[in-house]
Amino acid sequence: MSKFQPEHFHQQAADALADPQLRHNFRGAMDYLQSKRKSAFADPQEEAAIRDRAEAIRRRCLRKLPELLEQLETNCTANGIQVHWAENAKQANAIFLAIAQSVAQPVSNPKTNHALLMIKGKSMVSEEINLNHEMAKHQITCLESDMGEYIIQLDGDTPSHIIMPAIHKNKQQVSDTFSEHLDHFTPTTDVDSLIRTGRQQLREKFRTAQIGVSGVNFAVAETGTLCLVENEGNGRMCTTVPDIHIAVTGIEKVVELLSDVPPLYSALTRSATGQAITTYFNMISSPRKPGELDGPKAVHLILLDNGRSQAYQDEETRQTLQCIRCGACMNHCPVYTRIGGHAYGTVYPGPIGKIISPHLLGLEATQDLVTASSLCGACGEVCPVRIPIPSLLQRLRHDAKLPPEQEHQPLRGQQSAASTTESMMMKAFATVACHPSVYHTGTWLAGKVRHWMPDNMSNWTQCRTAPKPAATSLHHLLKQKRKGTQQ
Ligand code: SF4
Repeated sequence: MSKFQPEHFHQQAADALADPQLRHNFRGAMDYLQSKRKSAFADPQEEAAIRDRAEAIRRRCLRKLPELLEQLETNCTANGIQVHWAENAKQANAIFLAIAQSVAQPVSNPKTNHALLMIKGKSMVSEEINLNHEMAKHQITCLESDMGEYIIQLDGDTPSHIIMPAIHKNKQQVSDTFSEHLDHFTPTTDVDSLIRTGRQQLREKFRTAQIGVSGVNFAVAETGTLCLVENEGNGRMCTTVPDIHIAVTGIEKVVELLSDVPPLYSALTRSATGQAITTYFNMISSPRKPGELDGPKAVHLILLDNGRSQAYQDEETRQTLQCIRCGACMNHCPVYTRIGGHAYGTVYPGPIGKIISPHLLGLEATQDLVTASSLCGACGEVCPVRIPIPSLLQRLRHDAKLPPEQEHQPLRGQQSAASTTESMMMKAFATVACHPSVYHTGTWLAGKVRHWMPDNMSNWTQCRTAPKPAATSLHHLLKQKRKGTQQ
């Protein structure tokens, strides 16, 4: 479980800013990812066309989401994939547990005394439901097989980026982790040797694991196909070697047609890592069929809601669900690139985390995250599906202060950031601003008493200079200027 919490965002951000090694690691990694994306979208017209198409597909699929989910279930079931629905993390974990407990002959692992081994490909939804921790309570080991996830699992750490989970570590730190946890490891900063070491450790585990777990990038309703994008080959191993494959994904990942996948795949890989395509692209349509030599004997698909329906109910917040989890908004965010992912205290950090986490966790816990943005717009400019992240942040800031009204569906935790003092001040300002004579008297008076304004204004002046009203208001200056022109 993460030691970071969204409620402690301010302190966690301050700690991250005070860590020069962390800042150096992130700066280097983000510069690299930004330049990779830039070269993948060298032609602005092509970039616009790819983004237009990806946005249109995601919008269409979301418009039809309820019927597409039903179609997906029908076609997956016809293909032999067992479909499960989970309203929240608890239900999703219960489904995992029930499947694990149905495995007929669990093999005992003498080293850990755990009864069953699940080997996991990269899946942010499994992080969302805290799968590893929940399964460990039942003597089930969940071993990460994505190299970045494997490194942070050894450290008891959590991902700091949605596609590069160990990006907060440099080569030396990875070597230190391996030295601490792996027998017979010779410290090195050679990346190939480090990767080789990790792979050797994992190879045997693929053969002995009873269950393979993966995420899903696109679930195709038309054909009942689960698409998985990856670069390491571990996703293919997880989905083909163990006897049981469990895929877990959010309900928004469904797409209508098989032909929707290539444009989204292209937008995803270019935005994420600057690749035209990834090394592996897996399409899972059924369990092993009679006569086939490999593949899992059973495939399960868990479709998780966990707050996504709340986002779906409102046309504006529904846009959040267009996300294809490329991470580009994070790589270009001036806040994320300085503080990294852990400071947010949520599974999804950065700009996408700020707009999705309030639906998953409620606004009570995440109200500080929605204000942690300068609204510079960099995230919205690079998002391949054109999610208007800055305006969604403004919407969430507004809702965090807004009393729930009966005629519309309030967001969870709505009004949690409301402050009586602030609301009285805004009401007073509104009254003044609506009465020109009061406003002019106020600005004239403020100019006269400006020298008595305090230099220390609590949190406001922690990293800013206290504002001083101008000696003469702009209105008065313009009036004087007009008089001068007329004379
Ligand atoms: S919000 Fe856009 S840029 Fe950010 S991860 Fe999602 S698709 Fe990528």
